[in-house]
Amino acid sequence: MALNVGITGLPNVGKSTLLNALAQAGAEASNYPFCTIDCNRGVVAVPDTRLEELAVILKPDEVIPSHITYIDIAGLVEGASRGEGLGNRFLHHVREADVLAHVLRCFEDTNVSHVHTGIDPVGDLEIVETELFLADLERVEKWIEKEKIKAKALRKGERSDLEFLETVKGKISQGAKVGHEGLNEHESGLLKELRLLTSKPVIIVLNSGEEAPRGDNGACKAAVDHFGGNFTIVISARLEKELAELPPGERKEFMREMGVDAQAKERFIEKCHDLLGLIRYYTAVNLKLQAWSVAGGTKAPAAAGMIHGDMEKGFIRARVMSFEDLSKYRSENEVQHRGLLRTEGHDYVIRDGDVVQYLFKL
Ligand code: GDP
Repeated sequence: MALNVGITGLPNVGKSTLLNALAQAGAEASNYPFCTIDCNRGVVAVPDTRLEELAVILKPDEVIPSHITYIDIAGLVEGASRGEGLGNRFLHHVREADVLAHVLRCFEDTNVSHVHTGIDPVGDLEIVETELFLADLERVEKWIEKEKIKAKALRKGERSDLEFLETVKGKISQGAKVGHEGLNEHESGLLKELRLLTSKPVIIVLNSGEEAPRGDNGACKAAVDHFGGNFTIVISARLEKELAELPPGERKEFMREMGVDAQAKERFIEKCHDLLGLIRYYTAVNLKLQAWSVAGGTKAPAAAGMIHGDMEKGFIRARVMSFEDLSKYRSENEVQHRGLLRTEGHDYVIRDGDVVQYLFKL
């Protein structure tokens, strides 16, 4: 699964700067609203020390890490859902995302204009979320209209889709996020198809400014108190961008001065994996070693299906070793010799660090 992260937030909060820090994508960062008119993208290989070690042990011809795509989404201002600013143009890109990173401005800088009066991360997120709720409401209402036409031909007991959509509408109009808990399989499928913006998992990025790279300022503290630490990550976008541009040899020293142990691009990816409950496993076939991110709890056939649909349909079994065993015994033969190479069937749940070969018929 290549993860898509949508970077959202009001103008001039540091979205393009963050994209540059996370992906070194060269997005233009400039000091006026709507600078990022095109949807900037950056594709990043997920840093993975286990993959590096497996490459040394298995000596493949090709090593393919898993990837994250960052999309810098411009045009989100108060009234965007009614077409203000860049209006609805941004919404399409937001719907593509698996997770939204809401960037909130927690830095003071009189040289950088602010769309509202002061630094107020909690208030800024309310504006952003209100726009997303309004956009979702409009979408559900459109679906309801279409469903009503279909429902005319149906009997009362057969109108469950319409009833479900009405329930979703009711929740959204009250500003409540709609999740999959308590839904049956059919409803869950419908909800997925709806691709509601407000149902997406959210990471709140507090752009703390260069004076407080670890979030030691009033705005960051207020935001962490309000949103809770699980969903928030403190990043000084400007410093991290500078850090990402330094030659590797100079980075350590700069990080020591900033008082951070890891670059934002690593911390951010870790946060995404935690929040989405993702694990990473590996396939090693025909001298090609590849890392994959999948949701925890994914069974082997479904994981194979993410590589190719036919592999899920024709799944027979999986040969599985653990990264720890390979790291300890340094060769596939030695792992097998010790009886640690397992054959697993349809019900096997892929574990973090598994090294897998799928057997399937076409
Ligand atoms: P966007 O509109 O949200 O994409 O914001 P940009 O990334 O284009 O940034 C807008 C302005 O804020 C630019 O001049 C950036 O250099 C500046 N900026 C971004 N992050 C920081 C920061 O951490 N500190 C300061 N002082 N300025 C920043």
